Amino acid sequence: MNKAKINIIGAGLAGSEAANFLANKGYEVHLYEKRPVAKSPAHHTDLFGELVCSNSLKNKKLDNACGLLKEEIRHLGSLMMEAADKSAVPGGDSLAVDRTVFAEYITSKIKNKKNIIIHYEDVNELKDGYTIIATGPLSDSNILNIIANITGEKSFGFYDASAPIIEKSSIDFSKVFMKSRYNQGDDSYIDCPMNKEEYLNFYNELINAKKADLHSFDTDYFEGCLPIEVIASRGVDTLRYGPLKPKGLEHNGEEFYAVVQLRQDDFAGNLYNLVGFQTNLTYGEQKRVFSLIPGLENAKYYRYGLMHRNSYIYAPKVLDDYLRLKNNKNVFIAGQLSGVEGYVESAATGLLVAYYLDAIIQEKPIKTLSFYSILGALVRYITHTGINNFSPMNANFGIVYKGTKDPKDVVIARALKAIDDFKNQ
Ligand SMILES: Cc1cc2nc3c(=O)[nH]c(=O)nc-3n(C[C@H](O)[C@H](O)[C@H](O)COP(=O)(O)OP(=O)(O)OC[C@H]3O[C@@H](n4cnc5c(N)ncnc54)[C@H](O)[C@@H]3O)c2cc1C
Repeated sequence: MNKAKINIIGAGLAGSEAANFLANKGYEVHLYEKRPVAKSPAHHTDLFGELVCSNSLKNKKLDNACGLLKEEIRHLGSLMMEAADKSAVPGGDSLAVDRTVFAEYITSKIKNKKNIIIHYEDVNELKDGYTIIATGPLSDSNILNIIANITGEKSFGFYDASAPIIEKSSIDFSKVFMKSRYNQGDDSYIDCPMNKEEYLNFYNELINAKKADLHSFDTDYFEGCLPIEVIASRGVDTLRYGPLKPKGLEHNGEEFYAVVQLRQDDFAGNLYNLVGFQTNLTYGEQKRVFSLIPGLENAKYYRYGLMHRNSYIYAPKVLDDYLRLKNNKNVFIAGQLSGVEGYVESAATGLLVAYYLDAIIQEKPIKTLSFYSILGALVRYITHTGINNFSPMNANFGIVYKGTKDPKDVVIARALKAIDDFKNQ
């Protein structure tokens, strides 16, 4: 066994990836997790690797940037992808998972590793030695202050919300149908069709509904994941070009004015989440306004949507190419806190940091991951972008070197080769 000791703070998506990789390399890993000792504002369980909102890891196809990123981390030995394969539920082109089975798989994998020592502790001071901080977007002021004290830079934040989950048995199936958009592989989505009158009624109630107090003056949102009521507030038709888009959801020759989709959320198929319905409406208003959707008049809520501040650090200024703090080379930042956005992106940086840390401890010459790959490009982006108005980034071909110039098959092959070369260096 390699005797070097590594601290990882946070057993979320990034922390679990890093712990799994480093434990497999023989390190003594001290994994600190605050749940259940302290509460998290968005997690609902004490499991490691919990998905706090959607049960989708986004598109599966390689010509989609997040699909390619998933394949890249599969090549790198990702625990998240292993868990996703064990917990997949039907989701058309999306890789949807049963969130409980997914997180239970990660938890048991971590707990069964003898060289991972788990500490249930709400960490509020820096540990000695190599440390990966992977406390996520909901990191509290203690963690943010630890980083600020090292870097001299304050962190930033934006608002992100989660969508409600509904019990299937409470849906009126005489008004809905099953179909995946453009018949993608399976008919796994529940579709609630709306005519113009129903849509306008729903829209008007939505934009005037009561929102929960954000306890802050700051309402910066992440454009890639806007609350449904914020999308609606931008114009009467914005929802029909976004989450309520009717295209590809014609049924029995009929076209609809708008369609609300629900995606299977658990293995058993008892729970469905409202796709794109992340929201900050009060619980009472969610029940009232969403009951205007045909089929959901008497819906029973397993979980309501909610909204939270997401914190992230000033990555281009404070992180080096290996996601280390420039002012303390023992401290690495992984996950959403580092300035990436999304489940897969967060897990991916956890895995990459673990590769880098292993090479650093072994005193192996380390090449950074090429930005021909999505993961290399993401890290390159957050560590090198122009430092004014830095905001988080998710997987997309626009940041990949020649990612939008060359044909997709070339971009994909080049990305996976870059990953394999990195792994085998
Ligand atoms: C409300 C909300 C909804 C989101 N919805 C989506 C979505 O639908 N799709 C998507 O792709 N992304 C979504 N995200 C963004 C992001 O992908 C997830 O938050 C993801 O879980 C981030 O992974 P992570 O490993 O960085 O952090 P997390 O998975 O949050 O893990 C951090 C871990 O650290 C622990 N921790 C925190 N502080 C301490 C401490 N001081 N001591 C010890 N342990 C600590 C936490 O309990 C947690 O287990 C959402 C984020 C939020 C906040």
